[in-house]
Amino acid sequence: MSMKQYEFWFVVGSQSLYGQEVLDTVAVRAAEMAEALNASGNLPCKVVYKVTAMSNAQIRDIVAEANYDKKCAGIITWCHTFSPSKMWINGLVNLQKPYCHLATQYNLEIPNEEIDMDFMNLNQAAHGDREHGFIAARLRMPRKVIAGYWKDESVQKRLGSWMRSAVGAAFSKELKVMRFGDNMREVAVTEGDKVEVQAKLGWQVNTWAVGDLVKEMNAVTEEELDAKMAEYAAAYDFKTENTAAIRYQAREEIAMKKMLDAEGCMAFANTFQDLYGMEQLPGLASQHLMAQGYGYGGEGDWKVSAMTAIMKAIAEGQTGGTTFMEDYTYHLVPGSMYSLGAHMLEVCPSVAADRPRIETHHLGIGMNEKDPARLVFEGREGDAIVVSLIDMGGRLRLICQDIKCVKPIMEMPNLPTARVMWEAMPNLTTGVECWITAGGAHHTVLSYDVTAEQMKDWATMMGIEYVHITKDTTVESLEKELFLADLAWKLR
Ligand code: MN
Repeated sequence: MSMKQYEFWFVVGSQSLYGQEVLDTVAVRAAEMAEALNASGNLPCKVVYKVTAMSNAQIRDIVAEANYDKKCAGIITWCHTFSPSKMWINGLVNLQKPYCHLATQYNLEIPNEEIDMDFMNLNQAAHGDREHGFIAARLRMPRKVIAGYWKDESVQKRLGSWMRSAVGAAFSKELKVMRFGDNMREVAVTEGDKVEVQAKLGWQVNTWAVGDLVKEMNAVTEEELDAKMAEYAAAYDFKTENTAAIRYQAREEIAMKKMLDAEGCMAFANTFQDLYGMEQLPGLASQHLMAQGYGYGGEGDWKVSAMTAIMKAIAEGQTGGTTFMEDYTYHLVPGSMYSLGAHMLEVCPSVAADRPRIETHHLGIGMNEKDPARLVFEGREGDAIVVSLIDMGGRLRLICQDIKCVKPIMEMPNLPTARVMWEAMPNLTTGVECWITAGGAHHTVLSYDVTAEQMKDWATMMGIEYVHITKDTTVESLEKELFLADLAWKLR
């Protein structure tokens, strides 16, 4: 499902004590608010006003419906009046969808002349939302609280941003990952408990034989190849005479896409150690698939592949770019310290500053019989994040670091791969110390679109640990946080 197809259900709390007139006013206003939010252009998905809830049975029923409805990506609650929260318990304990408490109120101002006890009875969100907040805290529910005036653009944008995370949660629950071969031999961080991941995040991670891919590659027709080459020509510059190598990548892409689509997989991983029957490691092929929204992980890294797909789903329709990435090497000159990120071949062209070019170069690592074609480009400037999901044994930890991408400070004319250069927060050395202390992988997802807050919200929805390295993080504070988190997660 695409972003626009999802809806969020607006459930407004009240009670029967106030009489029908007040309840009718609440219902009319709630519908008006949903309509105005939808018209604002600040939300990626639709808000649907569902009910002014006044009883345990109503709330239980709307939660059951929300759980069951595939279009419903989450619920948004608000209490226009007071809504006694014991009547929310039987519903909320069964809620399986993301939950946002929008602590707002219908009127912007306190009307000086007009305010009397009737006004106070109708407009008591300040009081009702506190009762509502207590029960979610008491039930230890994962949720997002957004406070502010509902017509305020910043409030609407925060709600929209949370909605994207919720769509990422829905996407995660349905995600299938296709593995071509196993993980790279002896690597630790790309390993993980697939059963735990499926229970927690929903991912179905399974393996397919490289031989089946080769069979599919052999079945690709000349017409299909011609069409794919035209697609490449429209998007990229050809900077190689070796058309055969590009055509070979087209063959790989078409075959992989057919297998992915046949199985409903939105992410895949492969490894240079298992290319049996293939002439080239897929480079351009994987890059062009990533540009279409598929997740990718090198060296069999199915976790980073899945995270790439999820973050692309969260960023749907945005244009900053999201890619599989790897920390490669540093520039450690005082006053000018940068990380250089790249991969052997596979960086998504969605992050390119300029039109990417197709080049072919020798690749010494792996089973390549021939020089693989790949896209070469520089990443764009701008604020971004890098994200890594690691398996701590018994739980998953999501690590997110704020970074500032720069135009690479040198041309690197002999580097035959796409590259992104950045300054990690709070600075290179402390940033590296924090990242290594937290156990972050060398593989990450780098995104200019997805925000750290969105990843935190997503981690909350999925019930996993979240670690954020910011401009204010110190090694000491992080160590303390990790130590306490380790204890806390053991108790859960
Ligand atoms: Mn790698």
